[in-house]
Amino acid sequence: MKRLFSLAVALAITMLLMLTAAGSSSRRTVTVVLNGETISFDTPAYIENNRTMVPIRAIAEALGLEVTWDQASATAWLSDESWTPSLKGRTIVVDPGHGGSADGASYGGVKESDLNLSIAQHLAEELRRYGANVVMTRTGDQDVSLSGRAAIANRVKADLFLSVHCNASLTNASASGIYTAYHSGSAKSRQAAILLKDAMISAASQPDMGAHQRDDLAVLRLTNMPAVLLECGFMSTPAELELLQQPEHQKKLSQGAAWGTALFLNAPTL
Ligand SMILES: [Zn+2]
Repeated sequence: MKRLFSLAVALAITMLLMLTAAGSSSRRTVTVVLNGETISFDTPAYIENNRTMVPIRAIAEALGLEVTWDQASATAWLSDESWTPSLKGRTIVVDPGHGGSADGASYGGVKESDLNLSIAQHLAEELRRYGANVVMTRTGDQDVSLSGRAAIANRVKADLFLSVHCNASLTNASASGIYTAYHSGSAKSRQAAILLKDAMISAASQPDMGAHQRDDLAVLRLTNMPAVLLECGFMSTPAELELLQQPEHQKKLSQGAAWGTALFLNAPTL
């Protein structure tokens, strides 16, 4: 795989040199995390509308690799199915949103708190498959305060905090897709939010609603470690509510989130 990747990079750079003969170009250090190994290299880059364009994606995808790109840190994560990442020794707090007297959204007799718990239980199972130590903030339909959820993660010194939610739109009856949120104070949280979102979209074949900075969310603000809030789909859209209730779909969402977590926590130098 490494040889294949070297070939891809060589091709990318050659193509870039050809491309940039006509456009504005500069050099930029790009970090690539390939199957958990970090490689940094200085490469010519094409700048367009202040975005750094490095043509890794097309070539890597042609080689069958999954690609996630973070523009802000110029990092590309590449992986393929031959990689078996481990989360041994890592503690991940999984937080099913709402519960007890707080139902969250409610559509068609389905409470968000119940959906969140069900998806979170699948997620815990998938993370444990990678060897992670998983701590849940609730395992039943009970009240847990927002500060209490963050306090659990801080106490166990979690490597990552994941809050599981389902979305709702009051203005768009056909809103659809996966949305993740992070706090602006943490570049690592932003990277995790991008990685988990991309992996969930890919695993569950859902639309991309983006990774967003949300400084208003208490659980993201009060946690001392990288933290991501996952909005798994829109309960306000009938077809999506149907899908969100299916155990098979919940499992796919969870497999994506667990894969994204493995990508994130296996990048030692970031
Ligand atoms: Zn919620």
